[in-house]
Amino acid sequence: RASTGALPGWSQVDELLHEAHRRYAGLDEGTVADYIPVLAEADPSLFGLSLVETDGGAHHAGDAQTAFSIQSISKAFVFALVCDEIGHELVHERVGVNNTGLPFNSVIALELNDGSPMNPMVNAGAIATTGLVAGGSLEERWERIRSGLSRFAGRELALDHEVLRSESETNHRNQAIARLLQSYGRLDDDPADVVDLYTRQCSLAVTAEDLAVMGATLADGGVNPITGDQVVSAEVSRDTLAVLASCGMYERSGEWLYEIGLPAKSGVTGGIVAIVPGKGAIGAYAPRLDPAGNSVRGQRACAFLSRALGLNLFASL
Ligand code: GLN
Repeated sequence: RASTGALPGWSQVDELLHEAHRRYAGLDEGTVADYIPVLAEADPSLFGLSLVETDGGAHHAGDAQTAFSIQSISKAFVFALVCDEIGHELVHERVGVNNTGLPFNSVIALELNDGSPMNPMVNAGAIATTGLVAGGSLEERWERIRSGLSRFAGRELALDHEVLRSESETNHRNQAIARLLQSYGRLDDDPADVVDLYTRQCSLAVTAEDLAVMGATLADGGVNPITGDQVVSAEVSRDTLAVLASCGMYERSGEWLYEIGLPAKSGVTGGIVAIVPGKGAIGAYAPRLDPAGNSVRGQRACAFLSRALGLNLFASL
């Protein structure tokens, strides 16, 4: 199937999504993240898949409506919101677009690059990006983030307070990264406030279905295909997808692109959003992670769907 063609008919997509779920539901490789204490309590058997098309068609399999904290996947959407607000040139002055080749919470990556965060999809770059969110008070800026991500999802997203508390009590490394950014003159606001905002954005509760709608909005030139809301511009969607292609899956971004051929973003709770420009997006949730912090079942399901539906952007036939 040509990757440039449309998706197959609704029933075929639906069947293949269920097939992907059946194939990998028994895969028990990987471990649940536990460096944020409450995340260790996640049920490793959970597995949800969702695919939302840019025409609004939606498909779900398994635990697609189970809530989990969005974690690093928020980085993609906050980046898009900030670019839409202040322009990608200004954001680019603060945050680069190259992969670090290092773990998401690396401090060395920042030190090696003269204190300039290499990209917005790892913690240093994401904290710097969150530091660019406009607005006065902390609560005003938070509401801007929460309502912006909610527009991507097409429903009001809310905090998982237990995750927020657990992560706030243990996020010493992120606080160190923010202080380091400040020392290099790359954070204008109070570092503690910016880390608080960043931790809140990571603690927003979403489902695999939400991820698919959020991704489909980026696939659809910034227009939410369910609500019709233009959340960000088509240019910002394009730029965000470019950064996701090079940096969205941390140090495994190259392997992911080589095998699956789609811009994507993962988070440590086991979520993945994979975007098919012009066509739609896959949202996946399964808590067991590989060593880089990417969901094992989620990756396998996306690889299967990319092949079965002809989604690889680099395939010419
Ligand atoms: N909130 C998490 C952190 O900052 C997000 C990391 C992730 O999902 N990879 O450590």
